[in-house]
Amino acid sequence: MKGISVDGGNVTIGAMTTQHELISSDALAAAAPIVREASLQIADPQVRYIGTIGGNVANGDPANDMPGLMQTLDATYHLAGPSGTRTVAAREFYEAAYFTAREDDEILTGITFAATSGGYAYEKQKRKIGDYATAAAGVLLTVEGGSCTSASVALTNLSDTPVYCEDAVGVLVGSSLDDAAVAAAVKAAVDASDPVADTRGPVDFKKYVAGVIVKKAIESARSRA
Ligand SMILES: Cc1cc2nc3c(=O)[nH]c(=O)nc-3n(C[C@H](O)[C@H](O)[C@H](O)COP(=O)(O)OP(=O)(O)OC[C@H]3O[C@@H](n4cnc5c(N)ncnc54)[C@H](O)[C@@H]3O)c2cc1C
Repeated sequence: MKGISVDGGNVTIGAMTTQHELISSDALAAAAPIVREASLQIADPQVRYIGTIGGNVANGDPANDMPGLMQTLDATYHLAGPSGTRTVAAREFYEAAYFTAREDDEILTGITFAATSGGYAYEKQKRKIGDYATAAAGVLLTVEGGSCTSASVALTNLSDTPVYCEDAVGVLVGSSLDDAAVAAAVKAAVDASDPVADTRGPVDFKKYVAGVIVKKAIESARSRA
């Protein structure tokens, strides 16, 4: 349940792999650089030396960064229990805060996803170093001949589950990623968010921050595509 393997275009990460190990793996950074970019924004080195990818994605904490990242990557979760093994798509796994598709007698053993190509970005707004996100977004973009051929956009801590932004993806794919398309995608992503007021701010503030973060993430991914 520990370790990272990159086999051709397929990435496999054992559930007990720490966030520090994700950051340290050059093979993973080459196959999916968004993972290092996102992991470096989790808490601080002390947390990242101990925190595991399995513990981060399995407990359904909406503030954790890895669930949104895994939705961006369209990752697959591998579960094992008394009845055997099964897989669940990260985009289907989260039901509500701390409620997931994992049964009580199952553990998450690992995660697989396809290596990425093109532009990527994980942007996060937090109150201070070591804090969870006020708003964060993961974006992947591929561009061919001036047109966006594939996209992925997901949000962290802007609802009681991570949010995969299907409508924002629909706006981006087929566009030239011009400013109008980016603005429409940002609006679609903010519309898909459903934050609650808490110590990180009221709902209107969080939606405003979500717009800023999603725009930054799309523009950063565009510049790398
Ligand atoms: C001060 C602080 C700041 C933090 N800031 C951030 C942040 O900014 N971003 C972020 O993403 N995270 C943050 N975290 C969370 C951290 O990254 C870890 O994800 C979290 O603490 C869980 O740690 P762990 O992997 O040791 O899991 P554990 O604490 O061991 O487990 C957490 C829960 O998941 C269950 N679990 C663990 N592994 C599995 C598995 N393989 N299968 C099924 N269930 C499992 C456990 O039973 C438990 O209920 C922060 C944590 C702390 C303490």
